[in-house]
Amino acid sequence: MQTNIPELDKIIELIERHQDILRANVLGYVNEKKESYPIHGIEIGSELPHSPTVIFVGGIHGVERIGSQVIIAFLDSILERLQWDNHFQQLFTQVRVAFLPLANPVGFLKNTRCNGQGIDLMRNAPGDAICPTTWLVGGHRISRHLPWYRGKQGLAPESEILLSFVSNLVDRASLTLSLDAHSGFGLRDHLWFPYAGNIAPYPMLGQTYGLMNLFDQTYPYHAHYQVAPQSHFYTTHGDLWDHLSKQHKRQLFIPLTLEMGSWLWVKKNPRQLFNFAGFFNPQKQHRYERILRRHTVLMNFLIQAAYSSANWLPEGKTLGLMNDAAKRLWYQDLKR
Ligand SMILES: [Zn+2]
Repeated sequence: MQTNIPELDKIIELIERHQDILRANVLGYVNEKKESYPIHGIEIGSELPHSPTVIFVGGIHGVERIGSQVIIAFLDSILERLQWDNHFQQLFTQVRVAFLPLANPVGFLKNTRCNGQGIDLMRNAPGDAICPTTWLVGGHRISRHLPWYRGKQGLAPESEILLSFVSNLVDRASLTLSLDAHSGFGLRDHLWFPYAGNIAPYPMLGQTYGLMNLFDQTYPYHAHYQVAPQSHFYTTHGDLWDHLSKQHKRQLFIPLTLEMGSWLWVKKNPRQLFNFAGFFNPQKQHRYERILRRHTVLMNFLIQAAYSSANWLPEGKTLGLMNDAAKRLWYQDLKR
């Protein structure tokens, strides 16, 4: 069955083709004009309790199709590799890897940032920012016809599905790393960690510093990511990852947001300025393929790092030192 959403069709095709490798669930449906669209959750690898877990999320904003496409391409490649790569098969007996590759299908259908009710899911989580936010952009309850609308009250179905999917995985894991792929901000690729709604450090600061340090040391030629708390760029109400990290503050949980620097694509192809989708997505085939390749090193790294966390995850005195280093790097301006 075709759905009019190519990314969703691809997900359904992968699920059907790899029944023997993955465990897939329809987490819920969202409706638009008498049609229902499924939101899929996929798990691969270890079924043991307390396994290290990596979660890949895409498609929270309907207009940022490339985020979902990057996640789906990586899922596809993992499924291929699991059929022949002994080393990889063994790794997956110890690690759980989960995907929520398309969180906002109606947004994809309509090519809008928001869901079918005009709600920006990334402003929809419970919890107000405890610092000033930029007017409108930070989230508001004025009208669904303005961008960055938080909704009147309560959770949109897509947010509820995402929050419970991630929470359930974090509760079953010894350590959770997550990557949520977006596009449309800035010239460079950014990796953001919480908070979006607070300029103070979040509980996993030292561990996040340790993880990103490990990445830089292991892949010095892939250090094209600018790593920082999201609040360095703009602050918002209702960020889903802020909410999850507060909810799971006693667990080892590092949520990262990948913001692919699409302004560079626009700079190289200014005609994209006249095409709304083009502002968020590469339009030329060679550039599109390059973006799909560009983040695989990072995504594979996260799986390896989750598996081998005993060798790098800072504890005790080292954690204290990393916390201090992270505060010097990212929170120098804060009054202590
Ligand atoms: Zn986004």
